[in-house]
Amino acid sequence: MPRQRHRPKLAVWKFASCDGCQLTLLDCEDELLLMSELFEIAYFLEASSAVVRGPYDLSLVEGSITTPEEVERIHAIRRQSRILVAMGACATAGGIQAVRNFADVEDMKRVVYASPEYVRTLEHSLPASAYVPVDFELPGCPPSKAQVLEFLTAFLQGRRPSIPTHSVCIDCKRQGVVCVMVAEGIPCLGPVTRTGCDALCPRYRRGCYGCFGPMESPNTESLSAWFLVRSGLAPQQLVPLYRSFNAAAPAFVEASQRSADPIGVQQATESPWTQAVNERESANGEP
Ligand code: SF4
Ligand code: SF4
Ligand code: SF4
Repeated sequence: MPRQRHRPKLAVWKFASCDGCQLTLLDCEDELLLMSELFEIAYFLEASSAVVRGPYDLSLVEGSITTPEEVERIHAIRRQSRILVAMGACATAGGIQAVRNFADVEDMKRVVYASPEYVRTLEHSLPASAYVPVDFELPGCPPSKAQVLEFLTAFLQGRRPSIPTHSVCIDCKRQGVVCVMVAEGIPCLGPVTRTGCDALCPRYRRGCYGCFGPMESPNTESLSAWFLVRSGLAPQQLVPLYRSFNAAAPAFVEASQRSADPIGVQQATESPWTQAVNERESANGEP
């Protein structure tokens, strides 16, 4: 009798999110059947209510950590997972909900909820890596199907995934897309944003709004100067550009703070993400 091949146990978890990253997995229509043959889909409530208990070989985490219960849950998931991957802008950089990191969360609760007294939430929306070690990150809001499939293939083959980190501009050049910023003066975050979408927005004559997060070495200072001088924007108009889907990403936090306070009146403070990572590392004796 042929021996049954070991299928890695896959779990998909949701935190504060819109479910769009999980839908990217389900959107792998042609590959989905093969995926279910190669992996044992052990926990994926968006796809099935059938649950297989851990430990898991691979955990994909969607969403940011925003409540005390979620902090406990991400620690429990980490303990049960051989490899833990943060998937999407929420899980890797706090998501759009991280705009609250720049305001008083109590004020925000009063504005958003009719009965804020029932809402128990943390002051900040942070990525999984603020609380637990993360083995790999897939950027994007949502991540691209191609990058998700490349990651899963690499996992099965036991090799490092090939996920590029260059900017969206390179994709524009490769595809011969006319630069919307140079040709039309439209503000575009493409020079500081990571590839993954094949320059989707510029192909439709829109500026990039940074949904794949910062590229490997983002020069936000130079781009902000271009926005001010060539696009005629005021410093305050740059703030929401950087505070969107990857609001907590350190490079965008720094760029938005520079725009919000161009003459450096406020004292620079450590970001809540950096604080959380430092606390985690010193508690665990990590280097
Ligand atoms: S990263 Fe974007 S698509 Fe994914 S859960 Fe967050 S908001 Fe939704
Ligand atoms: S349109 Fe945007 S992403 Fe494309 S080349 Fe111009 S600045 Fe770069
Ligand atoms: S061009 Fe920018 S905003 Fe548009 S999909 Fe790509 S990364 Fe996201």
